[in-house]
Amino acid sequence: MQTILGDTIAAISTASGQAAIAMVRLSGPDAIRIVDAVFDSRDLSTVESHSLHFGLIREGERLVDEVVVGIFRGPNSYTGEDIIEISCHGSDFIAQKVLSIMLDGGARLAERGEFTLRAFVSGKMDLSQAESVADLIAAHSDASHQLAMKQLRGGVSNQIKELRKELIDFASLLELELDFAEEDVEFANRDDLKALVRRVREVVRKLIESFALGNAMKHGVVTVIAGRPNAGKSTLLNALLEDERAIVSEIPGTTRDTIEEVLHIGGIAFRLVDTAGLREAQGQIEALGVERAMQKIEESAIVLYVFDASDLTADEVNRDISKLLDTVAHQRFLAIANKMDRNPYAKTKEWAGEFISEENIIPVSAMNAMNIELLKERLTGLIIDGEIDPNAQIISNSRHHQALKKVDESLQAVEDGFEQGVTSDFIAMDMRQALHWLGEITGEITTDDLLGNIFSRFCIGK
Ligand code: GDP
Repeated sequence: MQTILGDTIAAISTASGQAAIAMVRLSGPDAIRIVDAVFDSRDLSTVESHSLHFGLIREGERLVDEVVVGIFRGPNSYTGEDIIEISCHGSDFIAQKVLSIMLDGGARLAERGEFTLRAFVSGKMDLSQAESVADLIAAHSDASHQLAMKQLRGGVSNQIKELRKELIDFASLLELELDFAEEDVEFANRDDLKALVRRVREVVRKLIESFALGNAMKHGVVTVIAGRPNAGKSTLLNALLEDERAIVSEIPGTTRDTIEEVLHIGGIAFRLVDTAGLREAQGQIEALGVERAMQKIEESAIVLYVFDASDLTADEVNRDISKLLDTVAHQRFLAIANKMDRNPYAKTKEWAGEFISEENIIPVSAMNAMNIELLKERLTGLIIDGEIDPNAQIISNSRHHQALKKVDESLQAVEDGFEQGVTSDFIAMDMRQALHWLGEITGEITTDDLLGNIFSRFCIGK
């Protein structure tokens, strides 16, 4: 991204389309002057910060709109710079007009995310917090909203910063040893260092593991409903959603394409995908549907295999599941014995076999919405063990996930180094790597940091 800090940027901050209000925002040293020049109201250069002012925006003699202007002087603003927010009437035309007046006045059109970038650069928030702003805007469920909010408040960042600080303290001592290499001194106690690395790795691994849940909370859990035609997949989808979105029909193979619906259970969004029947395709259109179904199954996190309990034998059920598991070996998997109303005395163990155990078969009657609540409980159980711990740190950002894996690798190398008795310079190198990746998460610059830490703590006089 091409960014020139120090100039004044402007953009429309609200979505396009007709609305009650639209907002044009400016940030930078000339924000107040640019708006003041076209705003008929009080002299903005003298008003208090964090105040609102009603007035008229003009373009030459022409009246453009009645607006409310908010003024936030730096450094106590979102970006740390002077910010002006112009709330105008919510027509795209008016918002564009106001924006173009600001650009004519000397502002530059902001790049994507540039306000938040400026907030990061001016130290208003770290990188991980800046990233959470995007997550917050995209939040679509209770879980994704809470995660983003927590990240914005610095939850994971603080933990990472603490870990990093502890490692830096030790790394500084290691670096110091390198300066006194010929004197064979050990500033960093090896046992303490090993214990520290072990402890940090434990925390890092927990964070890495939390990604599966974090990702599910953030993006929703793709859940495929698969099974033979007429097993009752669409009916089940409807029962889960309690409405009539999918088309239920008596003719096998009518759900030709895939349908996706979102079901919220316990704050988590399950993205339910109804697939075309799992059967040798006959017509062209159906063949396409089956192909898409297989692709969807591969992409999914959970597969629900639905079968007609009044029709299939254990052999048939296990054969179907074995085929599915071929493509989705690692998936979380549940079998649903549907149409139990036709077969009320049957026990789920009748279908248990090589590929599915009794406890993973859930008896339901989709048509009568029987046992649907149990199914919902089992679904959430696949994603969360018990309740989500409100204090647990959960990462949901794949960049952080990648960086944490690198941290873990580097710390593994540090541990291996101790094991093999390599010299301090190699250990220091791996430590620097770990610090680098930790620092990448929050956006701190590592090498300067490390040096800065050495200089501020020890006067080594070189
Ligand atoms: P799909 O092809 O797997 O999507 O199956 P549908 O949902 O279209 O259902 C096929 C037929 O089975 C329809 O006539 C449904 O009314 C019927 N059906 C679905 N679930 C049940 C159930 O729980 N009990 C009974 N008796 N019939 C059901």
